[in-house]
Amino acid sequence: MVLQDLGRRINSAVNDLTRSNNLDEKAFDDMLKEICAALLSADVNVRLVGTLRKSIKASVNFASVPAAVNKKRLIQKTVFDELVKLVDPRADSFRPKKGRSNVIMFVGLQGAGKTTTCTKLARHYQTRGFKTALVCADTFRAGAFDQLKQNATKAKIPYYGSLTQTDPAVVAAEGVAKFKKERFDIIIVDTSGRHRQEEELFTEMTQIQTAVTPDQTILVLDSTIGQAAEAQSSAFKATADFGAIIITKTDGHAAGGGAISAVAATNTPIIFLGTGEHMMDLERFEPRAFVQKLLGMGDVAGLVEHVQAMTKDSAGAKETYKHIAEGIYTLRDFRENITSIMKMGPLSKLSGMIPGLSNMTQGLDDEDGSLKLRRMVYIFDSMTVAELDGDGKVFVEQPSRMVRIAHGSGTTVREVEDVLSQHRMMAGMAKRVGGQKKQMQRAQDMMKGGNKNQQMAAMQKRMQSMGGAGGGGMPGMPDMAKMMQMMGGGGGGMPNLGGMDMQSLMSQMGGLMGGMGGGGGGRGKGR
Ligand code: GDP
Ligand code: MG
Repeated sequence: MVLQDLGRRINSAVNDLTRSNNLDEKAFDDMLKEICAALLSADVNVRLVGTLRKSIKASVNFASVPAAVNKKRLIQKTVFDELVKLVDPRADSFRPKKGRSNVIMFVGLQGAGKTTTCTKLARHYQTRGFKTALVCADTFRAGAFDQLKQNATKAKIPYYGSLTQTDPAVVAAEGVAKFKKERFDIIIVDTSGRHRQEEELFTEMTQIQTAVTPDQTILVLDSTIGQAAEAQSSAFKATADFGAIIITKTDGHAAGGGAISAVAATNTPIIFLGTGEHMMDLERFEPRAFVQKLLGMGDVAGLVEHVQAMTKDSAGAKETYKHIAEGIYTLRDFRENITSIMKMGPLSKLSGMIPGLSNMTQGLDDEDGSLKLRRMVYIFDSMTVAELDGDGKVFVEQPSRMVRIAHGSGTTVREVEDVLSQHRMMAGMAKRVGGQKKQMQRAQDMMKGGNKNQQMAAMQKRMQSMGGAGGGGMPGMPDMAKMMQMMGGGGGGMPNLGGMDMQSLMSQMGGLMGGMGGGGGGRGKGR
């Protein structure tokens, strides 16, 4: 999403200021100006930008901040907090309860993504043990029912609709009544839209609402509508009082700020983001994590703490990092990394801490993600000592071993294959990291004599390429290099935490997450 550009601009405005020697009032004003310009060009509502500017200015009162207080941190924190306020209305949204019928109705303009998102949400709840059904109350658009039918069938979700009934309120009422009788926990009602906000649409919406009395009405907003978002959401709010917003197409090239403004205009929380056309492309929206990701900053301090705590009590981890430094990566090393990551906490928390990681875990939430990790550990635990300590080649030579492991671990051969192929990818990365380490050593040795400048430049180049080593073409990974720089304090050299190389860790985690969240892993397959 182009919001990332916004994040980058804000970030660099703050960084420029905090890095400059004369952190005076004028420099601060310049930073504010740049932040506001960035927000405006991302389609955030003018009035909101004005408010945000005033709040930041008021919170960081230059005259009254004592010199001892770290202005830099204060400014960073204030900008962060204000951005969170912008996307967080601090209003709770409805939470469905099991054992009763929760009716959820979707509203929004035609093409906003209602039908697509209905199925995504239905699948979301279904995988959490809710008995879920879909009702198509779109009798306006030809083919609407077919579309819902196709989606629902693919996701194995029961559905209701009619090819002959033309009154959407009647179809909606029939469908909801049917599924209520069948004791469904969640009944999602898809409605029609129009290209514009028309009288007719609003009348229809109110009729359906009266017919099904939804527990929750969700407005679906297309992130590409720009500044129109505020007026549109206000108009919908006035007729169909929705209690939550889902913003779709955040994977596209929209500036995205408009949709965010809808939150403030209607005082309604965003609950999910649509991040693609597929069933799994739905991400829970969490204001703080969102802004963290937006600014690409990640909670680096938090991460370092986590990592330190993790290595302190784990001899195995140290062994692994020593291995990687030598370019070796066994299946046991892989197991060690997985269990370390599991100890580090929920995936969503981690992806908030590591810039770029969120891209890779999209589609997998905490529950799905940790379940996946647990099943990987079952797989490792069904391996023999020799298998664990080997490089995985025995599985290529004797594929029947995979069947044995799948049986023993209660998983599938496909999952075992996935683990092995992820391991291969990461072992390849370890090899590269190890190789680059050796190169660096050589460069350092060479520097003891000869043309220093030339060699310095060569080394810098290597450092840069190392920064990107974990990338492997994965989205968001270039941020890693930036983070490494930040952590190294700009002084060059890899930070060393308790004998462990951050770079290697990041590379591995990036690889792992990439495998899990991206096409290389299990996403969308067999689940
Ligand atoms: P409706 O008219 O509101 O029901 O909208 P649809 O669900 O039919 O979606 C309209 C188009 O937007 C379809 O082509 C969807 O595949 C697409 N779409 C919906 N959500 C997303 C999303 O999050 N990302 C992308 N890239 N496309 C989406
Ligand atoms: Mg539709």
